Amino acid sequence: YGTLHIVATPIGNLGDLSPRALDTLKSVAAICAEDTRHTRQMLSHFGLERPLLALHQHNEDGQAAQLVARLQSGDSLALVSDAGTPLVSDPGFRLVRAARAAGIKVSPVPGACAAVAALSVAGLPSDRFVFEGFLPAKGSARRERLHKLAAESRTLMFYESAHRIEESLVDMAAAFGNDRPAVLARELTKLFETVLDGGLGDLLAKVQADPNQRRGEFVVIVEGAGEDADAAIVEGRRLYAKLSEYLK
Ligand code: SAM
Repeated sequence: YGTLHIVATPIGNLGDLSPRALDTLKSVAAICAEDTRHTRQMLSHFGLERPLLALHQHNEDGQAAQLVARLQSGDSLALVSDAGTPLVSDPGFRLVRAARAAGIKVSPVPGACAAVAALSVAGLPSDRFVFEGFLPAKGSARRERLHKLAAESRTLMFYESAHRIEESLVDMAAAFGNDRPAVLARELTKLFETVLDGGLGDLLAKVQADPNQRRGEFVVIVEGAGEDADAAIVEGRRLYAKLSEYLK
């Protein structure tokens, strides 16, 4: 059998592609990529041209069986996503599950991951944390998710995009309180890397005051609720949010 290599790629700065990642990408029969055009561009920066196969959320189920057959025939493959670590808010879970079920070796080539990079510079408790990925796009579902997390004592990590960062911060401040300490990590490893800290209310004000702070890609890290968080306050906020849904 071949090996399925899960290869992390940079989240902005191409210098973060590891030498071992490059060697692995050179050695495999083909590279499964979320967006083949994007990956072809990255490879060409390193003077590399490899056969690419598209593997994205719309064809992963169908492709997995074919890719497993190819691995069983002896070819080794790599999986990459557009940025960072595959499977982390990115495709790959179904392929990895199918490969493991078929007894194929699945081996990681670790590297950049936006959530871990943000956590590493946030200065918020990092011994226990919860990765929440992207919040629901719909406002009511998003607020409900946040309210369920209001009493969570572990540090919370969210991914967010430029076009929803403001509304998400509004909803986070409502669910967790304006004073809850948080960090907004924007464009990590890129030219406009910015890491802002403060209460959720401050961060929202900064993002609202400066359009540049709404550009790019974001990780939001929120400190957990204190272990002694007043349950009544948390419940009060939850009820207020529920009520405000009806008053809108
Ligand atoms: N698999 C990736 C990883 O390991 O981080 C995440 C892919 S997910 C589709 C893309 C999201 O990751 C963005 O919307 C943003 O929330 C976050 N992200 C990716 N690159 C980032 C960066 N350079 N700075 C801040 N956040 C980033």
